[in-house]
Amino acid sequence: MIHDWTLPALLKHGYSIEQVKQWRTEQDKAGKPSTMDDFLRAHGFCVNCRAAGRHISGIHWQDSSGVEHNIELIARGVPESIASLHQRELKYALQWDFTYATCEIWGGTGKLA
Ligand SMILES: [Zn+2]
Repeated sequence: MIHDWTLPALLKHGYSIEQVKQWRTEQDKAGKPSTMDDFLRAHGFCVNCRAAGRHISGIHWQDSSGVEHNIELIARGVPESIASLHQRELKYALQWDFTYATCEIWGGTGKLA
């Protein structure tokens, strides 16, 4: 899952998983928007980086011959391209990891000051 840092990021900002769940449950009961994005917006978090202050900008890997590769993902948060890259390259790689860039909205804090 691509956005699995959202909850850890919220914990760092002082929210508990229970608080998030409770808010979403209450919103849902009230018939109001209750997605994770709705939580982020309602609490002043940046939806672009999902409260983390950074986003995935690319992927770097070392292929089976030990050669380093690095690509920039133009479109942010497009899991399909990562999945297809994984299918084509990453599953043969010795190692790979995401490259991160600081989210410029609100200076990389992930939250409205
Ligand atoms: Zn951001």
